[in-house]
Amino acid sequence: MGSVVDDGKKEALQEAHRSLADLNPTVVFVLGGPGSGKGTQCANIVEHFGFTHLSAGDLLRAEIKSGSENGTMISDMIKEGKIVPSEVTIKLLERAMLENGNDKFLIDGFPRNEENRAAFEDVTKIGPSFVLYFDCSEEEMERRLLSRNQGREDDNIETIRKRFKVFQESSLPVIEYYNSKGKVRKIDAGRPIEEVYESVKAIFAPKDEKVNGHRHTLMECLILFWMKWCKN
Ligand code: UDP
Ligand code: MG
Repeated sequence: MGSVVDDGKKEALQEAHRSLADLNPTVVFVLGGPGSGKGTQCANIVEHFGFTHLSAGDLLRAEIKSGSENGTMISDMIKEGKIVPSEVTIKLLERAMLENGNDKFLIDGFPRNEENRAAFEDVTKIGPSFVLYFDCSEEEMERRLLSRNQGREDDNIETIRKRFKVFQESSLPVIEYYNSKGKVRKIDAGRPIEEVYESVKAIFAPKDEKVNGHRHTLMECLILFWMKWCKN
């Protein structure tokens, strides 16, 4: 039996799940190892394709800063490169989506393990349209992380190695799961930013523009046909 406060929290959470299911947003999961360029490329996608970027790691770091009751636990887990319990991350993602007002989201750095994935789908009833996977060698990712100087407590060689291990053991199986469903769009992320973005753009660009410049819409075809018919 829960206390009045617990019951209130539960009710609020269920309300959030319902509202999100009603919103039924388009979601793209952006996955890849630490330093693979997820955040950088998401900024490009936001600029050109009208998505809102939600980085699970950024939301967790903001939660620590806000002085929340979970702050210390989250901070300790990030320093160790461990995965924060699903319910914490999912709650932050749900809140961010509901507060935002958009209905197209890039969810970056989540789901990080099978449990994250199953819990998100179970709770929100949302499945991703596809998964953008930035594939990059550990050598290159390590080089980027050690030179980015963002003041992150987990960008030291000891934590980086742990994050690589967690990615290999826990996150790659999530990518494999979605791959078996034909939902993974894999990008060679070891190249310079602009080159990687060219590949990213090709995935997000509307099909008509992508296929070729000669394809006409049905309306255009009808007009062309009518013009020809009028001539005869
Ligand atoms: N993290 C987590 N769950 C998430 C996202 C991030 O537990 O869904 C934690 C985890 O400890 C991770 C850290 O936050 O190592 C940093 O994540 P972020 O995505 O910011 O880093 P990246 O891997 O992109 O460099
Ligand atoms: Mg990131």
